[in-house]
Amino acid sequence: MVIAFDIGGTKIAAARVGADRTANEIGRLPTPIRDYDAFCMAIGDLAGPGGEPIGISIAGVVDPRDGRLTVANIPCADGKPLAADLEARLGRRVGVLNDAKAFALAEATVGLGKGHASVFAVIIGTGIGGAFVLNGRLVMGSTGSAGEWGHGPAAATRTGATLPNVRCGCGQPGCVDTIGGARGLERLHQHLSGVEADSPAILTAWQQGDPDAVRTLDVYLDVVGGALANTVNILDPDIVPIGGGLARNAALIAAIDAEVRARTLGKRLTPLCLPTETGPEKGLIGAALHVSDTPPS
Ligand SMILES: [Zn+2]
Repeated sequence: MVIAFDIGGTKIAAARVGADRTANEIGRLPTPIRDYDAFCMAIGDLAGPGGEPIGISIAGVVDPRDGRLTVANIPCADGKPLAADLEARLGRRVGVLNDAKAFALAEATVGLGKGHASVFAVIIGTGIGGAFVLNGRLVMGSTGSAGEWGHGPAAATRTGATLPNVRCGCGQPGCVDTIGGARGLERLHQHLSGVEADSPAILTAWQQGDPDAVRTLDVYLDVVGGALANTVNILDPDIVPIGGGLARNAALIAAIDAEVRARTLGKRLTPLCLPTETGPEKGLIGAALHVSDTPPS
């Protein structure tokens, strides 16, 4: 049994995850984003007095060299060695994992990746992310950023379109992440057509054959499919489950899959990229699997 947490900028959700790998929520609290003491106390309160290990999925990157977090939307925890701090306070084992990595580990273990040796799990939501699981183990990388395929230059080499050149949250100009997520799709549509619309409206217009939306999606698929094909060439995974808000549109994921398979070196006759559920449950299960698998520090 593990007490698992899904921590975002607005709420902390806690659940019990048992050997059957299902998550049963036990409580939630608003995230104290400015007060680190209160933040750690909220986690301790939700975990309760038992001695079960604690697994945390959080929207930040954990540096495997020193366990320090980089987390933009919870300023009080930014730069803190959260796992070590909680272990010292609570006297129990704690594992902290980036949310995309937690999703990937769950997806590879109990999701679409179950039974596959290599799984590159992708999130296409507000922004884009990903993580690689090989033979049931997460590939962390030396700085904790393995699988972050969204942070390289966006290129539209098939369509030759000019792209909006926006500075990414990571600090670099023109990352794939600035085009690939829901906000990016909206930005691209406005750049190409001058029309302001939200991502569901753009996707609906695309499916109805609206010429502006068809053009936007052609360029979007060029950028996102090209970057994902690059990653697939490097990792050559067995399956690429795609979750996140935009993955609810099955036609979009099918179009991404067609673009990726047309542009990878290794040819595949069956779909590689498949839509899956993200949801908080995957993060909780992934965080629990991770701490169960981590030796005590
Ligand atoms: Zn970036």
